[in-house]
Amino acid sequence: MRSAGLGPDLPAASSSSEQAPRSGGDGSLILAAMNAAPDGILLVDRAGCIVMVNAAMESLSGYSADELCGRSVGIFLPPALRDAHAQHLEGYFRAPSRRPMGMGRDLWIMRKDGSSVPVDIALGHTDAQGGTAVAFVRDISEVRRLEARMHFQATHDTLTGLINRWQFGQRLEQAIAESARSGQSFALLLLDLDDFKAVNDGYGHASGDQVLLEVARRLKSALRAGDALARLGGDEFTVLLPHIAQAQDAEQTAAKLLDVLCRPYQMHGFELDFGASLGIALYPNDAQDAATLMRYADMAMYHAKESGRAHYAFYAPPLGIRMAEKLQLHERLKMALAYGGLALHYQPQVDVRSGCVHGVEALLRWTDPQLGEIPPDRFVPVAEATGLILALGAWVLDTACRQIAAWAGAGMPLRVAVNLSAQQLRQTDLVEQIERSLSLHGAPADLLEIEVTESEAMADPEQARRVLCGLQALGVCIALDDFGTGHSSLAYLKQLPVSRIKIDREFVRPLLLTSADATLVQAIVVLAQTLGLHVVAEGVESAEQLHLLTDFGCDAYQGWLFSRAVPPGHVAALLQAAQATAMPAGEGALRGPATVVSA
Ligand code: C2E
Ligand code: CA
Ligand code: CA
Repeated sequence: MRSAGLGPDLPAASSSSEQAPRSGGDGSLILAAMNAAPDGILLVDRAGCIVMVNAAMESLSGYSADELCGRSVGIFLPPALRDAHAQHLEGYFRAPSRRPMGMGRDLWIMRKDGSSVPVDIALGHTDAQGGTAVAFVRDISEVRRLEARMHFQATHDTLTGLINRWQFGQRLEQAIAESARSGQSFALLLLDLDDFKAVNDGYGHASGDQVLLEVARRLKSALRAGDALARLGGDEFTVLLPHIAQAQDAEQTAAKLLDVLCRPYQMHGFELDFGASLGIALYPNDAQDAATLMRYADMAMYHAKESGRAHYAFYAPPLGIRMAEKLQLHERLKMALAYGGLALHYQPQVDVRSGCVHGVEALLRWTDPQLGEIPPDRFVPVAEATGLILALGAWVLDTACRQIAAWAGAGMPLRVAVNLSAQQLRQTDLVEQIERSLSLHGAPADLLEIEVTESEAMADPEQARRVLCGLQALGVCIALDDFGTGHSSLAYLKQLPVSRIKIDREFVRPLLLTSADATLVQAIVVLAQTLGLHVVAEGVESAEQLHLLTDFGCDAYQGWLFSRAVPPGHVAALLQAAQATAMPAGEGALRGPATVVSA
């Protein structure tokens, strides 16, 4: 500790005051102690001049004691604050008080090199030398750094560095308050990547993270500086567009965001394509509070997803009602998956010529304790839009494999066809998943058939081909469902390992009404035959329809004419009855009694 003139007397002088350490009158020990102190110690006289500093104060400020002693304490302050501080100091000397550490708020001192250090300052006072202020100055840079890091972590997403859900909530509240004052509108955009789960599952989480980083980068590049962008978690992002003059402004940005997201992603030398779905809610038109705005944007996004990939949608009031229903279906379907309520029913496929039952199609049935029976046409699209279809599809596959094994074990080897949704087909581990289900239940692979629709197989032809070839290698058969509704090219169809096509019931229904429909079905059958494919007609309800289909050369049929889909326990009885009685079909189709075979 050095002093400017007055220094050497100070320890002795202060020792006469109330708290002076007793040291047998030896000031050097006190000086040594002060220099050993980890905090800076700074003595300032009534005039605001620095009287003494210890070693810690020297290193904290970057000044030597000689440079400091005799100078105004204002040296530690930016020039703009010096006058105010001098007045503050005068006031302090008029009524000196103590201030412990931790009571000062956001204090900084300027170092010799011009940088500033955040400090905490405890103050004491002694009457020595006509009144001297004693400041204990603690460098709290480390604490502030830690605080800043903690604040960042609490308000930002660690992967992308974007603000997180909590911080976005703050921004949203702020925007609501500002817009309420200014009367301006703003838009809330919520977006979710399509099929991101497939990337995570197929390429691993590290790759998934890379994609998310790239997504964040692309989104940022397409937004203005004043827009807020946050990652809510997973593959969900949200954007706040302040000062929207009209809905089209939000629409333009939405289209731009989807455009940048839909460009291919490079991953391990592959090009990955996936889009995003985006929902928009407007303040104040749609809602005036944060929670409702978020919910509406979510509903709009959900609606966008239903319209297919890479779409955006605005919230609209009727959406609220329809969406509430769908969210309810989603919640209850999740319950059914966890606690029961789902079942597979089986509809026979009958060989037109022999009358044999070649196989059955597994159709999902759901009975909810409150909502009653819900048809798959209502809940499958909901499950597809929410991603629940993957868990649902896995349940269906597993249940079908168990049933195959049970029937085979009971001497009734029956081929079971299972419907696969587009999202399942995009799962890169689908083949392994099916292989596991088969081996878990001991079901022969050749008794399992997978039905994919033409449009599903066309959505990502390369991926579809890979998965279907993998399934074929297992011994599983593939049928192309709803044939005629998609627009497959013949060349592409030839590349798929498909053994059967199913003519959609929409073509079978009007079969007897116009010759144009009949010609179309006939053309489909001819096409299939040239490709060496087996043809199954769906939705056959009358003997006349069957007669015509038989004439056209269809191989098998499925429909209410023979049977609706029935619970598994009824299948054996149904087949026995069919065996015992003549088949309800046109003469051409009747070739002896129906028998169960495993074609
Ligand atoms: P789909 O694959 O085309 O299934 C055939 C649908 O036609 C079934 O309706 C069946 O009950 C119905 N059907 C059968 N014969 C006749 C008939 O003679 N006349 C008429 N009018 N209809 C007949 P369902 O069970 O309501 O299923 C509807 C759709 O739901 C299915 O169409 C399929 O796309 C989907 N689905 C059903 N189960 C599953 C499943 O386990 N997974 C997936 N991903 N989708 C499923
Ligand atoms: Ca089907
Ligand atoms: Ca079908």
